[in-house]
Amino acid sequence: MVNVPTVKLQPTGQEMPLVGFGLWKVTNKTCADTVYNAIKTGYRLFDGAFDYGNEKEAGQGVKRAIDEGLVKREDLFIVSKLWNTFHERERVKPITKTQLEWWGLEYFDLFLIHFRMSPFSKIVYASMRSADVGLIAVALEYVDPAVSYPSGWRTPDGSLKPIKASIQETWQAMEELVDEGLVRNVGISNFQGALILDLLRYCRIRPATLQIEQHPYLVQHDLIRLAKSEGIAITGYSSFGPASFRELDWKKAFDTPTLLEHPTITTIAKKHNKTPAQVLLRWSTQRGLAVIPKSNSQDRLLENLDVNSFNLEESEIQDISGLDRNLRFNNPIDVSYNGLSLYLVSGMNTYH
Ligand code: NAD
Repeated sequence: MVNVPTVKLQPTGQEMPLVGFGLWKVTNKTCADTVYNAIKTGYRLFDGAFDYGNEKEAGQGVKRAIDEGLVKREDLFIVSKLWNTFHERERVKPITKTQLEWWGLEYFDLFLIHFRMSPFSKIVYASMRSADVGLIAVALEYVDPAVSYPSGWRTPDGSLKPIKASIQETWQAMEELVDEGLVRNVGISNFQGALILDLLRYCRIRPATLQIEQHPYLVQHDLIRLAKSEGIAITGYSSFGPASFRELDWKKAFDTPTLLEHPTITTIAKKHNKTPAQVLLRWSTQRGLAVIPKSNSQDRLLENLDVNSFNLEESEIQDISGLDRNLRFNNPIDVSYNGLSLYLVSGMNTYH
């Protein structure tokens, strides 16, 4: 069995595996088997979310593995996320309980605020200094999961409806989830530096982790330095850059050279007798980040888990970081609100 290192989370001291399995875009049909097979392969961390629409099936995979005695609940580290439509205080606990029911669990090891997005008109956005980006943050109007699941960014009538819930209100409700034992650790995702520093001013329970897009085209040097200096563990997602977004047929992902065939990566991979995917994941873990790659193939499941048994040289880490283009793929844009064409802010993961 592959030995997966862990990182100690603050403030609980709980250990989080540095490699886990991401559940985004895992189909409802295959999800239970995929989770079960991943547990068999040695994965212990699963990264789910309301928005992925497959928590029930993921839970079935977990249950099968536990029923067969492969693992105990306490061997697993289950992550889920609060979607944008549940940011009002009174919405947080009920949806967390529903998500736990879908998984068939009594607690999540880690529960994250999935997004804090900031809509600006194109004109305002264009005239903004980057330091201002993201200072306005919105939550979205509640959508009943019985009516639309997963509801995505829009209400069932197709509109984007920001509401007034503040991050402070949402965070206090997240802290209450810890008080009640529904979640062990709380964290944030897609927050940039200004929002993190603000949250740290008033939180009673500090965020244990920050989950962000991170790959050699989006190195995130400053944001990572900030999170580390505050004792917040970091998880990088979309480690292979455009690969994940090609699955969605996004033009930007096809217009960007694939990292898995980039000569800088393939040359280093050859030298270490590893695959390009392993080099990309090791580059992240050697920078101190956890990773959560997704794959449906059994060979790749093992390949992606076994990424910490070799070390890149410092110069190789620098060469890979040198590919930085500050290029973000997970950047929902062109959402319209009140007849205005709005951008959902692009600076969401950046420090500046
Ligand atoms: P990923 O980095 O896991 O890449 C997935 C793509 O890479 C797929 O096309 C897959 O076939 C391919 N791939 C996987 N292993 C490979 C290998 N060994 N060799 C070659 N190709 C391989 O991308 P992702 O799904 O965007 O991110 C991983 C996880 O991160 C998600 O499943 C989700 O859990 C999480 N995530 C979180 C957020 C957020 O907003 N917090 C956003 C995106 C993803």
